[in-house]
Amino acid sequence: MAHIPTGTGRLPWRASVLTLFPEMFPGPLGVSLIGQALSAGLWSLTLHQIRDFGIGRHRAVDDTPAGGGAGMVMRADVLAAAIDRARETDADLPLLYMSPRGVPLTQARVRMLSEGPGAMILAGRFEGIDERVIVGRGVTEVSIGDYVLSGGELAAMVLLDACVRLIPGVLGAEESLAHESFEDGLLEYPQYTKPRDWEGRPTPEVLLSGDHKKIAAWRRAEAEQLTRERRPDLWGARGKRR
Ligand code: SAM
Repeated sequence: MAHIPTGTGRLPWRASVLTLFPEMFPGPLGVSLIGQALSAGLWSLTLHQIRDFGIGRHRAVDDTPAGGGAGMVMRADVLAAAIDRARETDADLPLLYMSPRGVPLTQARVRMLSEGPGAMILAGRFEGIDERVIVGRGVTEVSIGDYVLSGGELAAMVLLDACVRLIPGVLGAEESLAHESFEDGLLEYPQYTKPRDWEGRPTPEVLLSGDHKKIAAWRRAEAEQLTRERRPDLWGARGKRR
């Protein structure tokens, strides 16, 4: 087990990752705001090497699929041993398995996770994991999209990045979160900055008007139009929520 230490006495949001490739971490989570938050102790990262729980001299973690077929499957007994060890210190964390079959990772799920104590994440490899460990250890499968990655580590990093940026104090301007895509079931409105005119394309006049009410109304209308055009699924779901 490797623990990437944090710098303050404050209770951090805890990430506990079970993986065959702990050397991939913190990787992109070690830079910029998320990395600074790790150093500052706003969140902590504990890594568990699944191979430490492997079977025999070669520490085998996988075997051929029952019933035949291509590839290898991660063993239930090995994964359960790794999970049980990780739970000795982090029993309160929800256990997630990154999986293309899982429930979609949405901003609502990210927010819910970020408001809890943290997350324990199992990163799969090969053809995936023995179904019995999913049932036997109460695992929630979470997908980051309808495509197949070669391993769960990048998916775990996506989930962690999305959660950690919502922890109070991680982002400078908390206000910027309120208007982001998905926060109100809408995609974000278009953004502009300097220069005022660029390659013959002016910044919309309303944004330079100083009239905050008008600006808010324009942004709302743009966000609604974008959502209707690009994500009819989101737009339809908004109607049902109300
Ligand atoms: N045979 C599996 C299937 O068809 O569902 C795919 C296994 S994939 C090659 C190996 C691992 O990558 C999975 O166990 C999972 O941890 C991870 N993974 C792949 N795609 C993912 C996705 N869209 N979301 C989350 N995790 C994913």
